[in-house]
Amino acid sequence: MSMDVQTDRLTALRQSMVNDQVHARGVRDQRVLAAMTKVPRHLFVDDEYQAQAYEDHPIPIGEGQTVSQPLIVALMLEALSLAGPETVLEVGTGSGYQTALLAELAQQVYSVERLPELARSAAARLESLGYGNVSVSVGDGSLGLSEKAPFDAIVVSAAAPQIPQALLEQLREGGRLVVPVGPAHAQELQLVRKQQGRAVIANLEGCRFVPLIGQQGYEEGW
Ligand code: SAH
Repeated sequence: MSMDVQTDRLTALRQSMVNDQVHARGVRDQRVLAAMTKVPRHLFVDDEYQAQAYEDHPIPIGEGQTVSQPLIVALMLEALSLAGPETVLEVGTGSGYQTALLAELAQQVYSVERLPELARSAAARLESLGYGNVSVSVGDGSLGLSEKAPFDAIVVSAAAPQIPQALLEQLREGGRLVVPVGPAHAQELQLVRKQQGRAVIANLEGCRFVPLIGQQGYEEGW
């Protein structure tokens, strides 16, 4: 296949992913839909998984981690209600796919990844795609990133035992935190809004994420 034909084919697959898996299931945030139509998801997975990049399931990204199913990524991003000027913290960079989407949707993105090898390859991908408003660092994101706080929005891509207190503290008044909470087989995606200094919690969806491993997460080997 020529490069052009291949590119057209991937663009068509990406458009179908957005229409059939995301919009058809209720995601209406136009900015989220546009970002997912734009970001080349196949470039965030290894060659052997490229053919599956636009399918309706999570995909392995190495080191026992996965990039979430497109619908789940969309639901998390929609719940953040980003309008453009926000500073966002992402915990769990993984492949950098969701980081790229956040870079399309917000002003500045700080992303923290625990595993150095994943952080390195995600940062390289994001740079090669030209995302200049993203900063990836290695560390325990369950503690947030206090030197860049407060954040307008925080998204956690790994399951926590409870809402991490450090993240609540680093959220601006009126800000939104999206985090999967619970053990391996019984997680709820939660939307936490900080209102008058208090956490107002809504349950969004049952879900299944890899564990958040850290001081305010699980211990290794959960
Ligand atoms: N949103 C990612 C998916 C990441 S999978 C993507 O689009 O690819 C979850 C990631 O969280 C894994 O890479 C895992 O290493 C990371 N992680 C787990 N605990 C963490 C912690 N305490 N701090 C930062 N990253 C963590």
